[in-house]
Order: sequence, then structure tokens, then C-alpha cells
Amino acid sequence: MPHPCLSCGACCAHFRVSFHWSETDPALGGPVPVALTEPLRTHERAMRGTSQARPRCIALDAQIGRYSRCTIHPQRPSACRDVEAAWESGRPSPQCDRARVAHGLPPLTMDAWAGIGQVQGDPLPA
Ligand code: SF4
Ligand code: SF4
Repeated sequence: MPHPCLSCGACCAHFRVSFHWSETDPALGGPVPVALTEPLRTHERAMRGTSQARPRCIALDAQIGRYSRCTIHPQRPSACRDVEAAWESGRPSPQCDRARVAHGLPPLTMDAWAGIGQVQGDPLPA
């Protein structure tokens, strides 16, 4: 069974994704492509597309609820790395639940992980 995030993508089309500007500065080890971001507050940038009324990250390649891929997965910001799919590590994830419900998807349950076997770290696209 594939990882649930690969057929979801809801969180990348629900939240404003903001982070410290240094995450876009290669000289400071920041991996995020600056061209895909925009300025936010004094020390922050945001992924383009996520500050609008109906957020959708510019880096998202998805049909929400069908397939989903972060096109900059290895370079995504810390805010994305911090969002955990619900119950992937045995813990609830209110952010995951909120995003899925907002897109008409049911919150994940423990059953979503049955058959996946070993829990996969660092999934797409959260
Ligand atoms: S973390 Fe949750 S909302 Fe985000 S893609 Fe995965 S299942 Fe969907
Ligand atoms: S995981 Fe990728 S597609 Fe999703 S919000 Fe972050 S950068 Fe955008």
C-alpha cells in the first residue's frame, strides 16, 4: 500500500507555509529555492501560493485526494518537514486532520498504515 501522503497533498493546499529567510540562502545552508518563495514578515519568507485566500503551494504537483508530489521534496522548508501525517508515528496530527477535512477527505486513522509495514520517515509532501 502506498504512503497516504502520495494520494493526498491537502496540507500543501491549506496552510500558509512560512519560515525564516535563511532557509533560502545557500550560503547559510538553506535548501529552499528562493524563486519559489516570496517575502512575508521581516525575517520570514513563504512558499509562493500559500499566502492567498485559497492556498496552494507553487511546488505542489497534485490532484488533491488522488495523487500528490512535492517537486522540491529534498529542498522543502522546515515547516513542511515538521508536519507529520496523522498516526504515522503513532501520534495524532491536528494539522493533517484539518487539512484533509478541509479538502473533503477523512482524517487518517491507524488503519491507514496497515500494510505499509515499516513506518516511512520523511514522507511526501508534508
Ligand atoms: S501530512 Fe496529512 S494532509 Fe499532508 S499530505 Fe500527508 S496525509 Fe495529507
Ligand atoms: S511539502 Fe513541498 S509542495 Fe508541500 S507545501 Fe512544502 S514545499 Fe510546498
